[in-house]
Amino acid sequence: MRTQVAIVGAGPAGMLLSQLLHLQGIDSVVLERRSREYVQQRVRAGVLEQGTVDVLRDADVAERLEKQGHPHHGVNVQFDGERLRIPLSELTGGRTITVYGQQEVVKDLADRRERDGGRVYYEVSDVSVDGIDTEQPVVRFTSDGSTRELRCDYVAGCDGFHGVCRNAVPDSVRTTYERVYPFGWLGILAEVAPSSEELIYSNHPNGFALHSLRSSELSRLYLQCDPRDPIEQWPDERIWEELQTRLGTPDWKLREGPVIDKNITALRSFVTEPMSYGRLFLAGDSAHIVPPTGAKGLNLAVADVDRLARALTDRYHNGSTTGLETYSQECLRRVWRVQHFSWWMTSMTHRFDGPDSAYDRRLQRSQFDYLCSSDAAATTLAENYVGLAAV
Ligand SMILES: Cc1cc2nc3c(=O)[nH]c(=O)nc-3n(C[C@H](O)[C@H](O)[C@H](O)COP(=O)(O)OP(=O)(O)OC[C@H]3O[C@@H](n4cnc5c(N)ncnc54)[C@H](O)[C@@H]3O)c2cc1C
Repeated sequence: MRTQVAIVGAGPAGMLLSQLLHLQGIDSVVLERRSREYVQQRVRAGVLEQGTVDVLRDADVAERLEKQGHPHHGVNVQFDGERLRIPLSELTGGRTITVYGQQEVVKDLADRRERDGGRVYYEVSDVSVDGIDTEQPVVRFTSDGSTRELRCDYVAGCDGFHGVCRNAVPDSVRTTYERVYPFGWLGILAEVAPSSEELIYSNHPNGFALHSLRSSELSRLYLQCDPRDPIEQWPDERIWEELQTRLGTPDWKLREGPVIDKNITALRSFVTEPMSYGRLFLAGDSAHIVPPTGAKGLNLAVADVDRLARALTDRYHNGSTTGLETYSQECLRRVWRVQHFSWWMTSMTHRFDGPDSAYDRRLQRSQFDYLCSSDAAATTLAENYVGLAAV
């Protein structure tokens, strides 16, 4: 089998890259180890930066997003029950964020690729990548019990944090930077109308909580927890009680409803450098992870593949390899800005135990007061949250 670009992973990064290349007349094959149903039901991110919405529009997959996505003009930060609304649009020249579930983005992309006859192989195994330092890389995989070879010009590693592509870069040229946080997030999806039209990030002495939403009937809520907690330790009654405590204010109460999805995720910051080697290009979670506090993981994946699609287009249409040569360096500038913002939001809003915990809390209070009193501080949060246009 042969293609121009072999894409490993049918998450948002892989499927969007395939679609953007298709619009430029560039052929790709996508290999995914899970089933299509599994990939489309995975509940993850839901906050899209304006730049992400623009790329999805350019990719011609925004029809449902335009109808069902919810544009937000503000976000709330809360400390000890005191709530501050940051007017995102007012502070950023009219920019917004849009709430639309990641699984819907993936579904829109998969439907579109199917309609256009795109080659996407689900439930493959034993994926391996060879010859990335030659002009003809080969991706081997097993599908329906047979071993197959995919020859290509370029390989895009869009296979997430646990994928295989990152390890194809030799150890001698690869550097990783990592921070593992001593806490995780317990996330639930609940069949109840959101209690607020905008997100609320709350720092409470018991720990962090986030009120988010997916639609007018679905609330998405998170609690800081121990990442080693078995999920059975969090029956629904305990989750609602803790959410009410951490998010409640004297004049605001959270609506409760049936929990339809529940999971615990560890929080981590991670970057691998470089993001390309030979003819392999890493994009999205295969190259970097951010704690979800800044709502950036999906947005960063989209920014990577947008850049990669442009670079490949330039290579195929104009014979220029400049975009491919500078891909890693250009992506990493945005990656590190987002790493810093996500770490900063996490530091400001979570409970840190340990000998310095009282000191840490005083710093958090001071940061919150600064946000309340300074337009400059609020603008810094706002412009990073909606996404910096030029990084
Ligand atoms: C539980 C959870 C909650 C999250 N919540 C948020 C949030 O609220 N906000 C936010 O912005 N971000 C969030 N994120 C991060 C966000 O979802 C990711 O940044 C985003 O999915 C990145 O997209 P991706 O395509 O790079 O990687 P992924 O979505 O991980 O897709 C990679 C794909 O590659 C496939 N794959 C892996 N290995 C192989 C292999 N060997 N062969 C073939 N296929 C393979 C995987 O099955 C997967 O489908 C969350 C992540 C997780 C895990």
